[in-house]
Amino acid sequence: MTYISKYSTPDAQGYFNGFGGQIVPDLLKPVMEEIAEAYEKIKTDPEFIREMKYYAEKFIGRETPLYFAERLTKETGGAKIYLKREDLCHTGAHKINNVMGQILLARKMGKKRIIAETGAGQHGVATATGCALFGLPCTVYMGAEDVKRQSLNVFRMKMLGAEVIAVERGQKTLSDAVDEALEDLVKNYRDTFYLIGSAVGPHPYPMMVRDFQSVIGTEARRQILEAEGRLPDYAVACVGGGSNAIGLFSGFVNDSSVRLVGVEAAGKGLDTNEHCATMAKGAPGVLHGAYTYLLQDENGRPLPTHSISAGLDYPAVGAEHSMLKETGRAVYESATDKEAVDACMKLCRIEGIIPALESSHALAYAIKLAKTLDKDRLIIVNLSGRGDKDVDIIREYVRL
Ligand SMILES: *Cc1c(COP(=O)(O)O)cnc(C)c1O
Repeated sequence: MTYISKYSTPDAQGYFNGFGGQIVPDLLKPVMEEIAEAYEKIKTDPEFIREMKYYAEKFIGRETPLYFAERLTKETGGAKIYLKREDLCHTGAHKINNVMGQILLARKMGKKRIIAETGAGQHGVATATGCALFGLPCTVYMGAEDVKRQSLNVFRMKMLGAEVIAVERGQKTLSDAVDEALEDLVKNYRDTFYLIGSAVGPHPYPMMVRDFQSVIGTEARRQILEAEGRLPDYAVACVGGGSNAIGLFSGFVNDSSVRLVGVEAAGKGLDTNEHCATMAKGAPGVLHGAYTYLLQDENGRPLPTHSISAGLDYPAVGAEHSMLKETGRAVYESATDKEAVDACMKLCRIEGIIPALESSHALAYAIKLAKTLDKDRLIIVNLSGRGDKDVDIIREYVRL
């Protein structure tokens, strides 16, 4: 298993073709440099790679299956749909792949305390899980609004021994939690490691998170070759910050015949103000240490966003995706709240899988796409997580 991809390395300042960088206060520059240097050193270290492999297999439960959704394919009546089953990872989503990588790095760096931000609580739960595993104290910043909306995940984090701090500023959601975590880091960087949950933030995070998630694409590529004897025509994944998508894409980015499709949350519609379709409706700007596509007002401040899936509810996107969009290597589509819920219910009913609402966005687009394609075409959809966490939200939408 390779965990480290060799393509699209950012330049020395952390820019992917002009996107990304390390746009942080002077005080944080050496902190980011320390992480970048430590990561460069260990990423090819056989001991680190062995540890990653050990926890991937024994703790996360990798590899995850690439599952042919036979009934969904039949009912859709077009291209064959394969599901990469990241929902079967320990803690229920792909986030743990990245958490394990960063925690192992933090340990090598001698850091004694982990902090993280979380929106829906999925990254918070994954981080709390990793910290429990290694006996590290863990503080999770979470917007006060999200604390209210996601009380079950708050309790899960506490069960795992983490401290959860409700952030009472701005919109009291994910973006504010990141700001607060960065402030903690400024004060405590000597002993503290900031474990970022997506392929966003200042260099080296977008590259590092991509590398830790590239296991998704590496496995999927090998698995589809085994199953079909050829590469897929499409690789489709939902995009919040972009970590599960960049993980899947990284397996295929050098295969020019494979079309890469990121699916954003169109919320209540792209013509409303209630969505988080950063690529469709945003423009390049600066957020959380990086120059990247951003939903912003005329002063460059992030706009309020909406999605039925809290995990996609972020006003920016990882820098490498901005590069893939500008170069045309990937395209970015969207699915509405309603389309995601419909796709979710469809998968429940005909495949016996309850997908996360985030993943259901990718699924919704893939189903639409499959209908337009011949039966011999192949689509891989990344099923980034399971939907148990979303049952209360779905219950408000669907009468059974
Ligand atoms: C957090 C989350 C996402 C969105 O994050 P990315 O970094 O864009 O992958 C998608 N799916 C699930 C299940 C999540 O928990």
